[in-house]
Amino acid sequence: TFEQASDLRKRHVGPATVTYYKKPLMIQQGHMQWLFDDKNNRYLDMFAGIVTVSVGHCHPHVLKAAEDQLKKLWHTTNIYLHPTIHEYAAKLTSKMPGNLKVAYFVNSGSEANDLAMLMSRLYTGNFDILSLRNGYHGMSPYTMGLTSLSNWKYNLANGFGVHPIVNPDPYRGPWGGPNCRDSPCTVGKRAGENTCTCGGKDCKAALQYADQIKDHIIHATHGKVAGFFAESIQGVGGTVQFPNGYLKKAYEIVRERGGVCIADEVQTGFGRLGSHFWGFETHGVIPDIVTMAKGIGNGWPLAAVVTTPEIAKTLAQKLTFNTYGGNPVACAVGKATLEVMEQENTQENSKVVGTHLLQLLDGIRQRHPQIVGDVRGKGLMIGVEFVHEQDPNRPASQVCADVFEMARDRGVLLGKGGLYGNVLRIKPPMIVTREDVEFAAAVIEEAIQ
Ligand code: PMP
Repeated sequence: TFEQASDLRKRHVGPATVTYYKKPLMIQQGHMQWLFDDKNNRYLDMFAGIVTVSVGHCHPHVLKAAEDQLKKLWHTTNIYLHPTIHEYAAKLTSKMPGNLKVAYFVNSGSEANDLAMLMSRLYTGNFDILSLRNGYHGMSPYTMGLTSLSNWKYNLANGFGVHPIVNPDPYRGPWGGPNCRDSPCTVGKRAGENTCTCGGKDCKAALQYADQIKDHIIHATHGKVAGFFAESIQGVGGTVQFPNGYLKKAYEIVRERGGVCIADEVQTGFGRLGSHFWGFETHGVIPDIVTMAKGIGNGWPLAAVVTTPEIAKTLAQKLTFNTYGGNPVACAVGKATLEVMEQENTQENSKVVGTHLLQLLDGIRQRHPQIVGDVRGKGLMIGVEFVHEQDPNRPASQVCADVFEMARDRGVLLGKGGLYGNVLRIKPPMIVTREDVEFAAAVIEEAIQ
């Protein structure tokens, strides 16, 4: 029962394990975009198990692939050849541009970023790593250093040699630097409002932010860097988008200074942003290393680092091993997930349904300007930021928490994030329909009212 489960959890599961909702929810079943609790109440899942369930809970094609593999072989580690692992590596890397043709398989986003960090140091011979403020890259002691959100960092376990760089946040520039709201860029757009003075070109304010990367490298490192980590849209940080031109310029500067560029596609990959399969493509850049997890396995523990043969080779200086990385069941699931993405064109659905949802939510922002400060995102990765009276620096965290709770009571599960916990994070399985998102938007508005 619910009571037994909560009692056991309290006594035997580590107390830092996060539970959503004042009264925790016990989910017992999932089917596509729907979840069912212990009383068989149905919920529309607009958070997809923290952006993992990319093509739907227990999707029949993925389920069959897992079942077939489970009946044949569960695990041996990759000291032996296995057809699925190699077929999957070929299929996954076929989705990548340029020379990004080699994959290492691991089990989580943190492990993928750990490995990417190590490879960037081995490959360049440099030590310093740059990552962006407000970014989230994992919770291992190494990646906790990359994560730049104070509520996720323990002061005794930070990555040594990682430098947090201030990101350009078009909505909020609290430290008084150039703010895209003062000289707005296309990311600062609103449906029906033209606030952009850069005319769709590279945002001038953002390029100034990129220049600070050079200053930082010159003044705070030995002049060279190993790597630069960035999400294509910052997820946990509250769906923060970078203005046009920023990442491209940042990549140029990092490469001039001897570093490699690492795209963390853990949330933004696999067509979620609608217009492109990978988030970095929306910025017109090709990274040297790409890390991926979450949506890659539709909820199954699977993650990967994809890079060039030259960079991949650096790890071969020593023995490299990951017991479960490239597990045959995980690879069968990953392959089947990619097949569903192709067969059902989930990327196009993200684009069409996501654009519709963005417009609906923007309508809500316009009707409730006293509390909804910003609606932003791309495809099916959307953030709704609550602030008091249009002031980006007065987060309305309690309102966000209340809307989040009320939506649950009305059958819609959302995510929540941002440094101040005042951003609703909406990232459903990419198979949601127009009707689903219309229902979710109506529930959010009712809750706000
Ligand atoms: N990178 C990003 C962008 C993430 O959102 C996360 C998880 N929220 C991670 C890395 C870490 O992934 P994991 O929890 O699988 O270690």
